[in-house]
Amino acid sequence: MDMIIGNTLVEATERNTRNVAASLTNPILLNGVSTCYKCNKRINVFAFSCKPYENNKKFEIPIFSNVMEVELLLENLINSTRIKKIFFKDYSNTTKDYYYMNHCQYCGAKRGEFFLHEEHSGPFFFQKDTKISELSYFKLNDNPNESFKIEGTVMIEKFESYPTFKNEKELPIL
Ligand SMILES: [Zn+2]
Repeated sequence: MDMIIGNTLVEATERNTRNVAASLTNPILLNGVSTCYKCNKRINVFAFSCKPYENNKKFEIPIFSNVMEVELLLENLINSTRIKKIFFKDYSNTTKDYYYMNHCQYCGAKRGEFFLHEEHSGPFFFQKDTKISELSYFKLNDNPNESFKIEGTVMIEKFESYPTFKNEKELPIL
């Protein structure tokens, strides 16, 4: 079964599909909160996504994890902000690969994507229409005529009505 991500038709075999290369318009960086397993502090965590779009009378949001590549323009944009100090490409001993990983802003410990995206307590593990209202986001680009490539694992979340985020934040430019 194929699926559409934004305006891109992607070959997908299951809901949580790995190694997807999608082209997104209105890319955003989701911002949730998690607890550092090492120092136990509440920390900011991030995930690539885009603004909700309509598909088959539902609203969808793709949430990317284990992101290996993003279009240079987005990479440069993130690198011009303070977010780059805690969300950057790093080596995973689990997947033996480099991908965008969250790090504790206090002790630097890596926050594995599995805990954020695939565990029930994770901020990016959605259950029906809940949780989205607990997430903020940073707008990365809002030109509807531009699209940006992102490669990684994707989970598509579907909503009956247009989902509402907690708020839109300004990128913390360096
Ligand atoms: Zn920590």
